[in-house]
This record gives sequence, C-alpha cells and structure tokens, in this order.
Amino acid sequence: MMGRIAVAGATIINEGNRFQGTVIINRGIIEEIITGASTQLTRYNPEHTIDARGLLLIPGVIDEHVHFREPGLTSKGDIYSESKAAAAGGVTSIMDMPNTIPQTTTLELLDDKISTAAEKSLVNYSFYMGATNDNIEQLVKIDPLKVCGIKLFMGSSTGDMLVSNREALEKIFKLSPTIIVAHCEDEASIRQNAEKVKQEKGENIPFRFHSSIRSAEACMISSMLAVELAKKHGSRLHILHLSTARELSLMNNSIPLADKKITSEACIPHLWFSERDYDRLGWRIKCNPSIKLESDRQALLEGISSGLVDAVATDHAPHLAFEKDSTYFKSASGMPMVQHSLQVMLELSKKGYFSVEKVVEKMCHAPATIFRIDRRGYIRKGYHADLVLINPTSTETVTTQSLHYRCGWSPLEGEIFHNSIETTFINGHIVYHKGKFDETIKGEALSFNQNQLAYQG
Ligand SMILES: [Zn+2]
Repeated sequence: MMGRIAVAGATIINEGNRFQGTVIINRGIIEEIITGASTQLTRYNPEHTIDARGLLLIPGVIDEHVHFREPGLTSKGDIYSESKAAAAGGVTSIMDMPNTIPQTTTLELLDDKISTAAEKSLVNYSFYMGATNDNIEQLVKIDPLKVCGIKLFMGSSTGDMLVSNREALEKIFKLSPTIIVAHCEDEASIRQNAEKVKQEKGENIPFRFHSSIRSAEACMISSMLAVELAKKHGSRLHILHLSTARELSLMNNSIPLADKKITSEACIPHLWFSERDYDRLGWRIKCNPSIKLESDRQALLEGISSGLVDAVATDHAPHLAFEKDSTYFKSASGMPMVQHSLQVMLELSKKGYFSVEKVVEKMCHAPATIFRIDRRGYIRKGYHADLVLINPTSTETVTTQSLHYRCGWSPLEGEIFHNSIETTFINGHIVYHKGKFDETIKGEALSFNQNQLAYQG
C-alpha cells in the first residue's frame, strides 16, 4: 500500500461548488479536503504530491449503463478491455448489463460475473440481474447490498430478453427487492413500423429510417406502461436512455433526487447525435432506442438543466465493425462510448448547454444517489478516493490509435475535444495517467447502502 498522496492546487468541482484546494488520499480513502492554498500540506506529510494547478478535480464518473460483453461475446469486448477504456475516460465505476451469453438471470451466473470482474476489471463494478418472463423466484433472492438493480427489457434489443407477459411484469414490479431499470420500447409498434417500411422500400433502406421504425411513439407507449406499473406497486424505477422529448413529460423535477421513486437516464449517443448524423455516420450510430430528431436532442439537453433528466450514462455497447457495416436490417445495434462520455459532456458544457458542475452532478453524484452506492460519487471525507483530473484547455482529436476498445472503432473518430482526461484515481491508486495504465491494481465491487434503503421505506 502506498503512503499518502496530496492532489494539490486543483480547481475542485463537487456538489455544486467550485474552489481551489487539495485532496489528501490515504489508504484509498479521501482523508481530507483542504480549501485554498495548501499551507497545511506539511502537516499531512504526503509521500507524493501531485501538482494539479490549472486542472479540474472531480469525483470519478459512475457509468450506470454499460455492456462489457463478458461472458460469451468477448470478441466484441471483455471486462478487461472495456474497463481499460473506461479508466482512460475518467470512469471509475461501471454497472454492467445482463444480456451476455449466458444471460445473467440466476444468482449463480451473477456471482460468476463478479468473480471474473474481481480478476480483470481495472475499474469498480456491479452487475444487473436480468428479468425474464419466468425467473421471479431468482429476482426476489437478490442481495440489494451487492446487486445494483434488476434490468427489465420492455421491448427487445440485442440478446432478446424481452419480458412481454403482463402477469410477469406485474410480479416483477410488485416483488422486486431493489431498483428496476427499464429499457422501454414497444415491440408491437416497432414490428409494425418495420413491416410497413419493408413493404414500401424493400430491405436496403438508409439508416435514417431507424428513427421512424424504432419510433418516438414506441418509446412513449412502453415508458408510460413502466411508469404506470411503478406507481401502482410503489416500486423504484429508473427509465434508461430517454431518447424523446415526449418521455420527459413522464418525469418530475419538483422533488429532490434522493426522494424520487421514478428517475430517468439519458445516454451520450442521444445527447451528441441526432437524425442529421445518419447520412454521415450510418451504421456507426444505429442503436436502440434509436437516435431521433434534433428537437428531441435539444429537449434532452434542456432536461439535464431542468432536472427532468436525472443521470447521464453511455449505454456503451460495442460490436465489431463487420457486424454493423451491413444493410440496415442486418446491422447490429449499439456503439462503443465509455472512453469519451466525460469528454463529450465537457464539450457540451463548453458549447453552453450546462455548467461543469451539472456534468459532475449527472455523471458522478446522481448515479451514486439513485442506486445508493456506498461512499462513492462525491468528494467527501471518508469516501473512496475515486477521482479524475481534467485538463480543461487542451485540444484532443479522437484517433483510431487512441481507442482502447477491443472493437477498434468509435463513431467519434475525427472529433475534436477541447479538454482531456489527465489522471484517473481508483480507490486511491493512479490507474490511468496521460495514456499509461497501472494494470496491477484491480477495481472493487460496488456495495449499496442498506440504511438508506430503510430510511426510504
Ligand atoms: Zn443498454
């Protein structure tokens, strides 16, 4: 174990505040936060002092929605490769989805994933349990201290874990021992739209049809049903990847996040791209739910400021290029994003959509609050030292060579960001610094706060 580290003189952005200060890290924990000039530094006798003047220091990003593809789909990515990309992007914790092979639908398979991550993940981790039409007896046995949530596909996507049976849905909402996260797209509408387009235009259609096949209507129908069921049963529900202006009307921004039972997530693809990008990027930006109109994107960006969007994640979902570079109906849905989510949000901030404080709130604080993650997501005394140093003035171009994804491509190649991720601390260790990794240290399993559960009733 290394001795004390002082991260000195950074501009600290945390909990809506911005101040110059120093963070002292000891044994993986934030020991002290010193405001102003670091005259008290000698008192702590740090073994290493990192001169962070001119840099921003924020809590590590918690990406509550990734698909790292292990087990069973590791040609696309695995926990090692994708966690490395995450660390390079300032992401210190990830929550991984169950549509792997096999699907994570039993406690045993969930434990297998946790064991694999303990050996391979560079960042902290937790795994969702997948709901099916008939695994309710497994879902009720989940340990809510250990498992981040139950993933419910109310509409099909990669892996086809669609829960379509109304009776099964009612049971899941009634009996879930933890938060339900839902992918909401109405399958019947999508099938109908696809048939109609096929009949009119044939198989080989431009990718921009994706937004009218996986339509705003399909999202709204399914999100409304999820909200209805959550209200009926008093369940905690987090609606994943909002992609339309209309769905925002289902959200409430008049109560504090910690008191909300129904919350929402927006994902980077829907905040950065819109319909206007289909002709330029085609298969690269085919994802589910689809990227929709520019007016939807603007509404989502506004929702971040207004509080209708609670958290921002990536839906990082890598595929190999050849699996996507095909005709529309054959092209796989999903794109890699975890390495650049923070840079994208900082760039949107620079464009004037919201403050860096807001970026920190949505990417670091909110996931910790919504999922009740134990002592992470904030720069607070006694919390785990998951921290990121950002250079807010450097210019960086996304190149193929700079990608750490196994799939080797990104829809952001050629994009220029006016910020860079300098250093990523995970549990007090420098895991990433200016292009180099310390791979000897592994991330930890996230744990979740029971007291808060009891308090929430
Ligand atoms: Zn997803």
